[in-house]
Amino acid sequence: MTNLHINAAPKGAAIRLADPLLSVSGLNKRYRDGDPLAVEDVSFSLGNGEILALLGPSGCGKSTTLRMIAGFEAPDLGDVYLRGERVTQLAPQQRRIGIVFQDYALFPHMNLAQNVAFAMRHVPKAKRPAKAREWLDLVGLADLSARMPDELSGGQQQRVALARTLAAEPELVLLDEPFSNLDAALRESTRKEVRRLFKAAGTSVILVTHDQAEALSFADQVGVMHSGQLLQVDRPERIYQTPATAFVAEFLGHTNLLEGEADGEIAQTPLGPVAINHSRQGPVQLSLRPEHLALSAAPDDHGATIVEREFRGHDCFYLLEHRGQRFCAITPSHTLWKVGEQVRLEPQRTATVLRD
Ligand code: ADP
Repeated sequence: MTNLHINAAPKGAAIRLADPLLSVSGLNKRYRDGDPLAVEDVSFSLGNGEILALLGPSGCGKSTTLRMIAGFEAPDLGDVYLRGERVTQLAPQQRRIGIVFQDYALFPHMNLAQNVAFAMRHVPKAKRPAKAREWLDLVGLADLSARMPDELSGGQQQRVALARTLAAEPELVLLDEPFSNLDAALRESTRKEVRRLFKAAGTSVILVTHDQAEALSFADQVGVMHSGQLLQVDRPERIYQTPATAFVAEFLGHTNLLEGEADGEIAQTPLGPVAINHSRQGPVQLSLRPEHLALSAAPDDHGATIVEREFRGHDCFYLLEHRGQRFCAITPSHTLWKVGEQVRLEPQRTATVLRD
């Protein structure tokens, strides 16, 4: 279930669609006079059971956005709605939102079952121990319920923090870089497991991260932020394949930014004519992913020169130079080219027209 149906409704449509679980509208925040806006005119909505990742470099305003949704920070302008109800003025505890921070914040003097039971103010006291065990079971830690937090690994502590958040049965969970304290191997498995848990519970989630691979694999929708602005929100594959701006294109992986002169659905570029995804006239900036460039033997000296080669097993990454410009290409590793060789560079897919 995504919120796309809301955006896809034709303007003025008579159908009254259900309110999204969360919607934020025109959020602005400046911490101090003279500072730039930490968050500038951020609006988006989130459907039931949907997972959104807010992705961007450090300092771009992700956590501030999250804190305004949670109620820890008041926006200077704009509103937060939960199920259509304006909650901008409500205190954090009045919002039915669960939050998991980087450092888990388990109570050190309580065992795991007690940590989880603590979140169940809505459950009668007598029923809490059994319920706590059920939540710990869901994260695979029921057998350790009598342990203290300092007797657990980082990944286990993170799962307890999640069990405790889920035990409060929030409609929305906010995760602020929750996997960043875990080592690489544990991070990937914990992430998969956590996604499975949220999907099973039907909980809506906003994940804040600066890790593009994490955002693309964890979320149903990815919102890319830069300098306080939300540049684009879309499904992971669409964000990657049709980035809206040069920043989004480059933040999500390697890309070739090409200047072109468009005439309809074709643009003339330094790589020759390239098909483009929107009909345009005049100057355009384009993004073409490295895996969408093919290398073939150049019959003469007019091709691109291979300047660098990184063999990566299942594929090979090349840096090339053509008429004073650098390009990158990723090709299957069964055909390899050597540094210094001349090759023809051929776009294989439609290039994406970027916004300024
Ligand atoms: P991110 O989560 O993307 O790293 P933040 O939302 O934490 O970004 O920060 C956005 C901007 O606001 C940054 O320039 C940061 O320095 C500033 N900022 C964040 N918190 C505060 C604060 N409590 N006081 C003043 N400035 C802050």
